[in-house]
Amino acid sequence: MAGEASRMIVFRSGKKKDRLPFRMPTRSRFFGISWSRWVLIATGFLVAVIVINQYFFCPQYNFTEPRPFTGKHWYNPYEDIDTLRRFKCNFHAHSRAWMGLTNGNGSEQEVWDRYASLNYDVHCISNYHCISRFNDTAQNYLSAYEHGYNIKKNHYLLLNYRQVSFRDYPLPQTAHNKQHLIALLQPAHDELLAINHPSLRHAFSERDLALLSGYQGMEVLRSRHTHSYREWDAALSAGKPAFLLANDDLHDVHDAGDIGLNCTFVFAPALTASDLVQALRTGRSYGLRIGGSGQETFEDKQRKARAGLPALKSLLLRGDSLTLELSEPASEIRFIGQGGIQRARHQGVSATYVLDTNDTYVRAHIIFPDSSVMLLNPVFRYNQEPLLRQLPSINPGKTWLMRICGVLLLIIYLAATVMLAYRLNIRQNKI
Ligand SMILES: [Zn+2]
Repeated sequence: MAGEASRMIVFRSGKKKDRLPFRMPTRSRFFGISWSRWVLIATGFLVAVIVINQYFFCPQYNFTEPRPFTGKHWYNPYEDIDTLRRFKCNFHAHSRAWMGLTNGNGSEQEVWDRYASLNYDVHCISNYHCISRFNDTAQNYLSAYEHGYNIKKNHYLLLNYRQVSFRDYPLPQTAHNKQHLIALLQPAHDELLAINHPSLRHAFSERDLALLSGYQGMEVLRSRHTHSYREWDAALSAGKPAFLLANDDLHDVHDAGDIGLNCTFVFAPALTASDLVQALRTGRSYGLRIGGSGQETFEDKQRKARAGLPALKSLLLRGDSLTLELSEPASEIRFIGQGGIQRARHQGVSATYVLDTNDTYVRAHIIFPDSSVMLLNPVFRYNQEPLLRQLPSINPGKTWLMRICGVLLLIIYLAATVMLAYRLNIRQNKI
């Protein structure tokens, strides 16, 4: 048996026989508990600290009940756009990083070159917790990284940040955990914080998105299928000025089916990081899911990119009339409002929707004959500051109550574990 040894009796004939087994004295002990048990106690304690830190030490917020956009004015992000200064962008792509430990296939050079050959003006490399400096002297370089190493993929995209943060909550997150991370990652005026793929693994519920604030963007179109229309409408219906991003979230640059699926078109005065971020923060952009069968080769995609994609020519609000004009006819132009409900449907190269008193926001969802889907940012009501994204306040009473409970739980857990280990040792020594 493990931990037991036998003393041998040697007979004159040379035969050996076991004596009664006896217990080896335990040499290394601390407070009567073996070192192996201390290792188990320390591991358990570490796990308990992670759990208690996430669920008891995190600040508790005063979330206000969701309120739709209200006010007598309408914010239209496209009012003053210059359609000649439009940049095709992908902000979310992974290359090989962290010695291959994270999910990313292909070098930074390959990612850069492939996006350039698909006519993307801006193509970020956004590895996990790592800002790529590849080609950082190029005019169209924009620093980016993806934040989050938790079970449910609560991920954020951080654009134009100078530093990486490693703070996270690894277990399934509460709304307070999510809000705390958004508070910790707050961007400067020339930086952008966006929620990535909220529908992936149901990382952000519609309820979460009705409560959370302090971010500027949401990755509504992502990869081939992970789109987050409901989540976006949940945030907009709760009066959150969240503007969309459309990204590939590329993980394998050698897979033609993984690249050139989506793009964000940004109207910016110049191709600089601060101009691009400023345009995204104010909604002067739109998303496009590039149509196709899904079986295209990389060369097919290059040809399609060269031929040109459907474009927004204008979206104007004159009185109550919201009129959009496209570069080519659409098979469906849907105007969507509060609660994600379709308010009107048209087709053609242009369409007008007349806003009524019940409208809080209206966004256009446009489908083209080649199955491309264009998403426009919403126009929405406001009174004074349309783009106010205030963080909710922290509830100090609740926060400290939770923290005291957490400390008590930790003490009880540690004391109970040590006592159990001690008793087990005594019982084992008696056997
Ligand atoms: Zn992600």
